[in-house]
Amino acid sequence: MLRFANLASGSSGNATLIESTDTTRSTRVLVDCGLGVKELDRRLGALGLSLTDLDALFITHEHADHIGHARAVLQRSQANICISHGTWLASDAPSWGLDERRIQWMHDATASTIGALQIHPFTVPHDAREPLQLTCTDGEVTLGVVTDLGHVSEHVVESLQGCNALILETNHDTDLLAKSAYPPFLKSRISGRLGHLSNQASAQLMERVWHPHLTYVLAAHLSERNNTPELARSALDASLQNRPVEVQVASPTASSPWIKVCRA
Ligand SMILES: [Zn+2]
Ligand SMILES: [Zn+2]
Repeated sequence: MLRFANLASGSSGNATLIESTDTTRSTRVLVDCGLGVKELDRRLGALGLSLTDLDALFITHEHADHIGHARAVLQRSQANICISHGTWLASDAPSWGLDERRIQWMHDATASTIGALQIHPFTVPHDAREPLQLTCTDGEVTLGVVTDLGHVSEHVVESLQGCNALILETNHDTDLLAKSAYPPFLKSRISGRLGHLSNQASAQLMERVWHPHLTYVLAAHLSERNNTPELARSALDASLQNRPVEVQVASPTASSPWIKVCRA
């Protein structure tokens, strides 16, 4: 069984817990660590877990909303870190003094096994050194996680084929961003090819990876100023055209409950 809970989403911090259970064990991987230890522990507690239940942290890239609290979590748990060389070197991780046996290097298009979970990382176009997003599977169903990307490359489309559930960046509405009070350099960065995915681009990506066994999409990493949950949802709904996919929008302030990954 594969299930997940989005614990935090957005530029103030990201964290998604993924759990795979087979006949003998459960494996829990936290994708990104942008929540402080106390808050993370509280949100894990609401799911009946604690920091010591984490088997690994998968860090997608070196921006603070993804790696900001990883060191503190590693100090308070036995979790390994799954990370690309580029992200490692672009962050302050080399100074953490982490035991090498706790580092699992991640490479584009190279599967890794962590207990009952298989992870398939893939590179995305984003202004970081070696950003990786991922799909993961328990062998039965597959979850895709893709946030922090400026545009949809063919590699991203290929990597997300066959997912039964998706956590998908819907960062901004293009009109709201264009009209916002953000300085021009920031607007260019966000809307640029190495920035963040708009609702419209996200809807097009979903269209290209949709298949009859995609059952669930969580819209994630929403800008608090240049988007609304309603706009993100309506962009995705419009491209789904009544196909039976459940769409939800991640909250910037609260965790989701457990969401079980199912095929139709
Ligand atoms: Zn981010
Ligand atoms: Zn980022």
